[in-house]
Amino acid sequence: MKIIKPIDLNKFLKNNKEKDVEENKTLTDISEKIKEAQNIAIFTHESPDGDAIGSTLSVYLALKQIGKEAKMYIPEYSRLFNFLPGASEIKNKLDDEEFDLAISVDCANLKRLVGKEYFENAKETIVIDHHESNDMYGDINYVDSAAPACAQILVSILQYYNVEITQELGTTLLTGIITDTGGFKHQGITPETFEFAAELLRKGVDVSTLYSKVLETRTRANFELSKRVSERMEFLEDGKIAFTYITKQDEIETNAEPGDHEGLVEIARSIEGVEVSVFIRQRDDEEYYKVSMRSKNNINVSDICYLFGGGGHIRAAGCLIKGDVEKVKEKIIKETKKAFQ
Ligand code: 5GP
Ligand code: MN
Repeated sequence: MKIIKPIDLNKFLKNNKEKDVEENKTLTDISEKIKEAQNIAIFTHESPDGDAIGSTLSVYLALKQIGKEAKMYIPEYSRLFNFLPGASEIKNKLDDEEFDLAISVDCANLKRLVGKEYFENAKETIVIDHHESNDMYGDINYVDSAAPACAQILVSILQYYNVEITQELGTTLLTGIITDTGGFKHQGITPETFEFAAELLRKGVDVSTLYSKVLETRTRANFELSKRVSERMEFLEDGKIAFTYITKQDEIETNAEPGDHEGLVEIARSIEGVEVSVFIRQRDDEEYYKVSMRSKNNINVSDICYLFGGGGHIRAAGCLIKGDVEKVKEKIIKETKKAFQ
């Protein structure tokens, strides 16, 4: 019988020696900045998903544990995340204030950061992220594009600092991991992803209930929108590209709230033969469409979105394009088709 060695949960960091020295220095710098700061704020990307919210709450709870109060600023997010520990402390408004330290989580660039004006005015800034396209906009940048979720990077950082992963922190960290990995199933998950989940189970975190709350619960409006998205689905390039959309009017008619479009881009990805799913959603200003792309295998959708000033990950990315449905569709599909050549 094969003997399975016990897991060294303290060794989440990479083994590469040179990298370790560099990483340790970054982590020491981060810790110094946190110690010095009196006035800390945490920010994340627009249209925040589970990883954005889970990572924000995790940093907040970890700071609290070491005796530092911080402000979290997320003006709009899905109410389905309101049950998470610390969520009632999230601010939807900040006063005219200046921070000693601003921490950004799960956000690739300043353009997408909500509260960027506060971030830019802060005395010190730290960026913690897992986007390949991160443009290192902080004074200190801790970016690991190999991590499947920003929250997974936080796990290793918190372990480095010996912060105790309490049930609350376990819940917020795992929310980020579960949502960004699509429930432990996307490419990019690592053994650490499962090791961490296993450790939380041992600690008594109800992983199964959390999974169902953050991944398998949808609002009625999201369901109504998904019907429209499915009806309008078009298949192009022999079914390799799926395209669909929702307008502002659709959101009004379905009483959609912030976050209700989450997951709509995923619908086409599960259809046989579809390699790339393209979903566009009209923004509130009605001038632009937010493009969301997913790919199943080899097509790098981050590269496609980069052509329009966006980015993301190889298999999940986004950008903004001006125009009506037809115009935006034409532009994005043209570039997507090229990626198959
Ligand atoms: P989603 O389609 O879920 O909005 O985003 C998928 C991924 O692409 C996320 O990791 C998100 O952060 C990233 N992403 C979405 N839109 C943009 C964008 O406009 N610019 C950049 N750089 N990344 C984006
Ligand atoms: Mn993320």
